[in-house]
Amino acid sequence: MPNDGPRSQTIAVVGGGIAGVTAAVEAAETGYDVVLLERGPALGGRVTRLNRYFPKLCHPTCGLEINYQRIKKNPRLRVVTMAEVQRVSGARGDYTILARRRPRHVNANCTACGACAEAAETEVPNPFNYGLDTVKAAYLPHEHAFPMRFVIAPEVIGTPEADRIKAACKYGAVDLEETEETFELSAGAVIWATGWRPYDAAKLEAYGYAACADIINNVEMERLADHDGPTGGRIVRPSDGEPAKKVALIQCAGSRDTNHLPYCSMICCLASLKHAAYVREQYEDAEVDIYYIDIRAHDKMSSFYERVRSDPGITFIKSKPGHIVVGEDGRPVVCGERTIEREIYRNSYDLVVLATGMEPSLGAGFAPPAGLETDEYGFVVPRIGEAGGQVSAGVAAGPVDVALSTQSATAAALKAIQAVRAG
Ligand SMILES: Cc1cc2nc3c(=O)[nH]c(=O)nc-3n(C[C@H](O)[C@H](O)[C@H](O)COP(=O)(O)OP(=O)(O)OC[C@H]3O[C@@H](n4cnc5c(N)ncnc54)[C@H](O)[C@@H]3O)c2cc1C
Repeated sequence: MPNDGPRSQTIAVVGGGIAGVTAAVEAAETGYDVVLLERGPALGGRVTRLNRYFPKLCHPTCGLEINYQRIKKNPRLRVVTMAEVQRVSGARGDYTILARRRPRHVNANCTACGACAEAAETEVPNPFNYGLDTVKAAYLPHEHAFPMRFVIAPEVIGTPEADRIKAACKYGAVDLEETEETFELSAGAVIWATGWRPYDAAKLEAYGYAACADIINNVEMERLADHDGPTGGRIVRPSDGEPAKKVALIQCAGSRDTNHLPYCSMICCLASLKHAAYVREQYEDAEVDIYYIDIRAHDKMSSFYERVRSDPGITFIKSKPGHIVVGEDGRPVVCGERTIEREIYRNSYDLVVLATGMEPSLGAGFAPPAGLETDEYGFVVPRIGEAGGQVSAGVAAGPVDVALSTQSATAAALKAIQAVRAG
């Protein structure tokens, strides 16, 4: 890696989700050198794993593809995938970033022809689908991946199978000797766009996530509904592959709960409205129940809420369920009391979806570098008017949707430019 030396004008962006990609493109198009570091094998972050975007229910690739074209055209922007930033030290104008790069075992000669996957036999859990299915040990991260380049899973490295995978590639793209490396680079400003991870539903013991395959979380629901997902887009019971026509969506699963996530993740209500629409589009005789404390769908999202609410196949039940058990027939049973009617219920479903919230990626165990403040949960605290060179974009600073993530990314690009100019 080149070292730009002290007083660098380079902007480093940590995290290649929609926020990091947006900030990187905008800073580079303004004429600054940018290095975008992403720990995964492809850009796009969590958004790539969404089936569709609320409120219009369009495909997320629309928003990402245009940015990938901008990246390809801009020589000032360098993308480093498989690179996880571990430490940042220094001060505005002169930061040193330490990153660890995992081996992909596939170099830039890859044409994504798929011959390596044909030669592979071992199946590994598919990270893109949250492990709901498997992929060959030589795999493309997903069908719209950028860069469009395969990955060889570490599970087969050092085996005769890896040699067969290498032999199958006629472009010399498979590099079995590649090893993990750490590297440093210098930057004048750092944009933290490290995003989020789903709250661990297994911690919600009363909701039985670990006990029943037909109790899933909301990010898994996105994959279940996607044509590129584990079921080819059919919303079915994971236990037996039968259509899921009676579905419960449980709001605030762990959110606004001092035992789990005390805050509201802002998007879970909207995501569940979207999930109700997915089910109803697929099965015209489907029944969807949404259990909620209150529905948070403000401003332009309120018409989306009204549209979903007017569907006679979708029922809103004001209640926070007490627990979810597995019935004698193996189906999940949601138990609780209706808040207004004061009626006890025990309702049986094909599928239960827990609307779990967003936790910061910079969570437990992350020691913020000097000059970067994080709150008690691990979200970056934006400091208006401060002269530092570390800024945040997207969900790194708190739960927001894609529109607000990209707005904050543009602001972060501007702040980073101001920092390197001043530095
Ligand atoms: C169930 C669900 C459905 C949703 N549906 C919608 C929707 O329909 N419409 C909408 O507008 N919003 C939706 N959202 C919200 C949307 O997912 C977020 O707004 C969006 O992901 C924020 O993007 P981001 O770039 O900030 O974070 P992320 O998407 O999390 O990207 C962060 C990136 O940083 C990388 N990274 C993290 N740490 C490091 C490190 N140390 N070094 C290098 N790289 C690192 C990660 O690998 C990742 O690629 C939904 C959220 C949920 C939970």
